[in-house]
Amino acid sequence: MDKNNPFEMAQEQLYACAKVLDLDDDVVGMLENPMQQVQVSVPVKMDDGTTKVFQGFRVMYNNVLGPAKGGIRFHPEETVDTVKALAAWMTWKCALLDVPLGGGKGGIICNTKELSEGELERLSRSYMDRVWKFIGPDVDVPAPDVYTTPQIMAWMMDEYSKLSGKNQFGILTGKPLNVGGSAGRGDATAMGGMYTIREAAKELGMDLSQTKIAIQGFGNAGSFAATLSQELFGATVVAVSDSKGGIYNPDGLDIEAVIEHKKETRSVINAPNTRTITNNEVLELDVDIIIAAALENAITKENAGNIKAKILAELANGPTTPEADEILYKNGVHVIPDFLCNAGGVTASYFEMVQNMYMYYWTAEEVYARLDQKMTKAYHEVLYASKNHNVNMRMGAYAVAVTRVVEAMKIRGWV
Ligand code: NAD
Repeated sequence: MDKNNPFEMAQEQLYACAKVLDLDDDVVGMLENPMQQVQVSVPVKMDDGTTKVFQGFRVMYNNVLGPAKGGIRFHPEETVDTVKALAAWMTWKCALLDVPLGGGKGGIICNTKELSEGELERLSRSYMDRVWKFIGPDVDVPAPDVYTTPQIMAWMMDEYSKLSGKNQFGILTGKPLNVGGSAGRGDATAMGGMYTIREAAKELGMDLSQTKIAIQGFGNAGSFAATLSQELFGATVVAVSDSKGGIYNPDGLDIEAVIEHKKETRSVINAPNTRTITNNEVLELDVDIIIAAALENAITKENAGNIKAKILAELANGPTTPEADEILYKNGVHVIPDFLCNAGGVTASYFEMVQNMYMYYWTAEEVYARLDQKMTKAYHEVLYASKNHNVNMRMGAYAVAVTRVVEAMKIRGWV
């Protein structure tokens, strides 16, 4: 296996789960590859008059439980294998949260930092022109992800609506509030992660108000997690990082000031009253909780042994390699696995779909209350399964999710 290939990592996790659940080979055969994967060439008229062609993907991994659901990432190092892995994890995530959706994912190889706003809009619309026949409100429903925003969702929704001749707010989620978005969706991923951290702390007998937290990644998920850790728990966030490095203050960071600094300079580095440290140092600090909120493969066999935190909350997708997982399990680090920890985003997206269908919108408080219920239930199902099968939390999550998908495939007569 190529240890840095996220799809091979996702497959390895599935095979391990198949052993725990004693699944037949034909069942595994249905689950080890996506049902459908589409690659498209996306032409864009650039501001200088040239036409540049970008490569895009949309993968539907499995839709036995309902329409596929999953974000669209704009990233210079996007690969089809990353998209396939993320689509697989979406399948398990939706099943785990018990929402009636399957798993999908999309992406475009591009660097948004090098595009003007006009180019970004044309890229978003052109991608939709290429994939619209493969998606739909009851087929496959995209959402924002790394480097895609509510504005990009609005352009894509508008393009899909034009192509299909009617307003189709339900084609994707994570939209701005005034065009079918849901209250509470913006910070739902971090909020959902907070509910799982709260339950994990209860399980481990930790007083969250006394905890120190370090956060890797200070984008959408990470920056909300920093604010919420303070607001909900009264915890002290001592370090955060982004792609340029980390910042540290043992007495706690002023998160508002860091957010302001990042807005002005595009990085957290040199925010007031902080010391610059490396990304690795952020992970290895003497803290109680680490929140991984950047990208894949952040925690490897090289640094896993140095993690001192009692809880590793994986807001990012695939931040821990399988070898690192074993080290963490052996060292007694309580890992809240990605497709449980970051499932708040897709759960709120599901709520957005429901509201679009009803054309009736909930308050943020209603969204959070429903989110709390779903996340808390899922956390305890995972904890129970991990104890019952004597496996780590990630495998517990797989056991719950894969069982649901397999039972649905059996009852529908797929296997
Ligand atoms: P984002 O683009 O807003 O933020 C990513 C952050 O990670 C940025 O601050 C970037 O500078 C930082 N980063 C990149 N490389 C880094 C490195 N080597 N070390 C430290 N920081 C680094 O993306 P996001 O939406 O916050 O997503 C982050 C992760 O959470 C991804 O894995 C994504 O798939 C996952 N996720 C996000 C959502 C959501 O709703 N936003 C939902 C589910 C999962």
